[in-house]
Amino acid sequence: MELRQVGKTGLQASVIGLGGEYLDGEPCERTEAVLGAALDGGVNILDLFMPGSEVRENIAKALGRRRAEMLIQGHIGSTNLNEKYDISRDLPTAKRFFEELLRLFGYIDFGMLFFIDSLEDFHSVFDGGLADYALKLKQNGDIRHIGFSSHSPRAAKMAIETGLPEMMMFSVNLAFDLCPAEQSVFDQTDYATFSGLDPERAALYALCEQRGVGITVMKTYGAGKLLSPEHTPFGRPMTEAQCIHYALSRPAVASALIGCKSVEELNSALAYLNSSAEERDYAPYMSALRKDFQGSCVYCSHCQPCPVGIDIAAVHRYLDISRLNKDAIPPSVRAHYGALAAKGSACINCASCEKRCPFGVPVQENMRDAATLFGE
Ligand code: SF4
Ligand code: SF4
Repeated sequence: MELRQVGKTGLQASVIGLGGEYLDGEPCERTEAVLGAALDGGVNILDLFMPGSEVRENIAKALGRRRAEMLIQGHIGSTNLNEKYDISRDLPTAKRFFEELLRLFGYIDFGMLFFIDSLEDFHSVFDGGLADYALKLKQNGDIRHIGFSSHSPRAAKMAIETGLPEMMMFSVNLAFDLCPAEQSVFDQTDYATFSGLDPERAALYALCEQRGVGITVMKTYGAGKLLSPEHTPFGRPMTEAQCIHYALSRPAVASALIGCKSVEELNSALAYLNSSAEERDYAPYMSALRKDFQGSCVYCSHCQPCPVGIDIAAVHRYLDISRLNKDAIPPSVRAHYGALAAKGSACINCASCEKRCPFGVPVQENMRDAATLFGE
C-alpha cells in the first residue's frame, strides 16, 4: 500500500481509504469482515460521518484492539435527531454526538467540521462556536488535527483561508471537476454542456498544496454514477481504477476514500494498487469529451514512461502552482518537487512524451521552466 502525507498534519494515510457510509445498516459480522480485510490490505484511514449509534458501535467493536492502526475522520455537526440523519450547527447537539465518538474510539484523528457547502454553512460553523469547539478538542488532545468536509470550492476556499483546517475531505472526480463552482454538483444532469476543468476547483486544489492542507476524497466514483453504463456522463462508464487514479492525481490529495459494504467491493477497489498504467489511464475520457484541455497538463500520466524517469504529471502539478507564486514558491511545494526522483533538469528532450500527450502540452519547454524556477 502506498502511503501519502496528509498535508501538514504529518500523518501518513493509505492512498485507498474506506468510506464507512455503506456499513450503515449492515450487521456487525459484515462490518468486522470489511474492516478486518481493509486493515489486512493496508488501508489505514476511515471516514465515519454516520451519526447512528449502531453503526458507530459496530465499527468500534470491529476495530477493537486495532483502533490505533486506523486514522479516523469523525465529524462535528453530523447528528441523527429523532433517528433521522441531519446536519446540526447547534453546539450542544454537535457536542453530544461527537462526545459519543470519543467515548467509543478514545480519540479522533481528524475532527471534521461537517458539510461546509455554502456561505451560510461557513458562517454558522466559524462564527457559531463549532470551530472554537474543534480548537478546544485539539488543545485537549481529543482530536489530533482539525479538518472539514465540503462539496463546494467557494465555501472550501473560505474555510481554508481562515488558517484553521489542516486537511479537508472534498468531492473529487472528473465529472464534478467539470462543474462550474457556482453550481451544485448535486443539481447537474448534463455534464456535456460544461467546458473544461473548472478553474475554481483547480485553484482550490492548488491552494491546498500551497497551504499544506491535505485532501481526502469522497465521491471518488461520483456516487457510483461514473461506473454505471446507464448514468455515466461520458458516454461509457469509467473503471474504478480510472476514477481512483483521477482523484489521486489531483494536487494535495492523500487518499481516495471508497465506500464499501462488502469484502468483494473492498478488494475491487484495492485492485487499483496492482493495475497497469493503461488500466488507470483516464485521458481518453477527457480527450474525447472536448478540446478545452489543449495545452494544459491535466496530470493524467498518459505520456509516461519517460526514459530518464521523470514523473511528468508530478512536475506539472508543482510547476503550475509555482507559476502562480513565482516570487515566493511555497516551501511545501519546493520540498515536494525536491523529493522527486528525477527533476525537470533531467529532461533529455527526447520528445516521446509530447507525441503521446493527447492535449498538446509543451512538456520539454515546461521541464525547462521547472528546472529554472526550482533551480534543479
Ligand atoms: S503532459 Fe499530457 S499526457 Fe502527460 S500528464 Fe500532462 S496532460 Fe497527461
Ligand atoms: S522529453 Fe523529457 S520529459 Fe519528455 S519523455 Fe523525453 S526526457 Fe522525459
